[in-house]
Formats: sequence, structure tokens, C-alpha cells
Amino acid sequence: MPKYKYFSKSDFEESDIIRVPCSINDIRPSTLQRFDQAREYAGFPFVVTCGARTLEHEKSRNRNGFTSHLVDDERGIKCKALDLRITQPRKRFIATRALMRAGFTRIGIYPWGLHVDDDEKKPQNVIWHGTH
Ligand SMILES: [Zn+2]
Repeated sequence: MPKYKYFSKSDFEESDIIRVPCSINDIRPSTLQRFDQAREYAGFPFVVTCGARTLEHEKSRNRNGFTSHLVDDERGIKCKALDLRITQPRKRFIATRALMRAGFTRIGIYPWGLHVDDDEKKPQNVIWHGTH
């Protein structure tokens, strides 16, 4: 397993902040390495509220399974998205800049914080605004 400077199993498996418990190994290593680099650039802790989600979970929420958070071991799919709790405007700016500097090209801005992914199968160089 790759080593990350700022993230460990406890951010995913035993976290009481994360909404859907998952394994750090469910996250694509290149995505988490990029996120780790962004965390370094930002200079403050990144609070992860969502990592990998299974197809079963998505279906239980009436979702189609096209999320970049999807992990599907049978199809060799790893999660390429992370949700980050940030509500302060200044921190949101710093985090967005850090994520872009680290190479993320897809960022969603929500009332609770930021969704970020590096899913190359989806439109690139986009920032969208979400409501929930
Ligand atoms: Zn997300």
C-alpha cells in the first residue's frame, strides 16, 4: 500500500466523520496521492466526509452508480473522488487552489464543502455548484 503523509486508515475505516465507512484501499492510490499533495499545499487538515461507496450503497439511495466515489472490486473500479468538509470561505479558496495545483480538474462546491475527483472519464476543467 502506498504511504501517504496526511492520510491513514483511520481517516476512512474508523472515522466517525465519514458518512459511509470504507477502506483506504478502496481509493485509487494516484487519486489519494494527489489529494495528499493538495493537503500539503493547503497547509491545514482536510476533513474527509466521503470516500468510496459501493454499488449496493448507491442503489440503496436510488442512485445509478456513475459516481466517481464508486468502488467495485469485481470490475476493478477504485474510488476517484473525495468529499472535504469546509465551510469557511477563505479555507474553501485555499483548498480549491491547492486541489487545482495538485492537478485536480473537477471540483464541486457545496454548502458542506468540496467534492473533488480526478475521474478522467468525465468532463475536465469544471467547477460546479451543488445544493446538497
Ligand atoms: Zn463527492
